[in-house]
Amino acid sequence: TKTLLEVKNLKQYFPIKGGLFGRTVNHVKAVDDISFHVQEGETVSIVGESGCGKSTTGRAILRLDNPYAGEVIFDGENLLGLSKAEMRKKRQDLQIIFQDPYASLNPRQTVSQIIEEALQIQNIVPPKERRKKIADLLQTVGIGTHQMDRHPHEFSGGQRQRIGIARALSVNPKLIICDEAVSALDVSIQAQVLNLLKDLQRKFQLTYLFISHDLGVVRHISDRIIVMYLGKIVEIADKKSLFENPQHPYTIALLSAIPSTNLEKKRERIILKGDVPSPIDPPQGCRFHTRCPFAFDRCRAEQPGLYKVDGEGHQSACHLVENGQIDFSKVPSNH
Ligand code: SF4
Ligand code: MG
Repeated sequence: TKTLLEVKNLKQYFPIKGGLFGRTVNHVKAVDDISFHVQEGETVSIVGESGCGKSTTGRAILRLDNPYAGEVIFDGENLLGLSKAEMRKKRQDLQIIFQDPYASLNPRQTVSQIIEEALQIQNIVPPKERRKKIADLLQTVGIGTHQMDRHPHEFSGGQRQRIGIARALSVNPKLIICDEAVSALDVSIQAQVLNLLKDLQRKFQLTYLFISHDLGVVRHISDRIIVMYLGKIVEIADKKSLFENPQHPYTIALLSAIPSTNLEKKRERIILKGDVPSPIDPPQGCRFHTRCPFAFDRCRAEQPGLYKVDGEGHQSACHLVENGQIDFSKVPSNH
């Protein structure tokens, strides 16, 4: 398989203006030097609490906000080198689905007009064939053709998300970024939409970057999972390793919050205290040290890089993982 998306040293800093002359006095370091890749046909999830930089990463990849630094290689091409017009064309290949489809569906348009507009912008289906194409698309996502001339408010939240998916699919994308795409839905509806996404992936050879705050949700859909904290990647692993052998205290804390997770093999559950610190002046050393129950002197002084964990492609940014497996005995007793 080939690498479809490669994100290299991505930084997204937003300037904070201040002082008499409105100069940039500081930056919100929303994403701070992250690298990862997504293989064709894969579902990679990014999880973390709100403010960790996961949505910012999705938006930076699509250049909805231009990144501050780094590279986004998509299908062999650096997206950050494209002109605005070239990028607009490229959006055919990279689509995004948001949490609240209602906000992105024009309430005055019918469902068929909404999808027709997407087809029109990208100009890939001749006008005469559009109505048929729209009907096919809606059927594919489970919306009956008799409903195609209705307006968004006549549909439930789950159906609206299906319409958003149909619109994204209409331009034959290669990659779909799902940003909290099922977070607003009831649990049973969530499962239906996740199953739909999985079916569509098989049918259309789609690749997903799935952004969510909820490890319970990403468990159903991911091949690999990236855990972010305060603008940094703290752990990357395939799904099985992440759930069965988490290697970062923050990941263990997120898993501890899912009641059904079996953490028997881990030393203990970690209950997160306090809030995520400000991304303007993130903590020195390990950014998680202000909330980590194991933090010791080194954590406050030295920022851990991503250490290799025993096992394929598993990495964790915690000093306790230096030797290939998290080792709590390295925590000094007087920390
Ligand atoms: Fe906790 Fe230190 Fe590991 Fe950071 S490096 S997660 S503070 S033990
Ligand atoms: Mg978000």
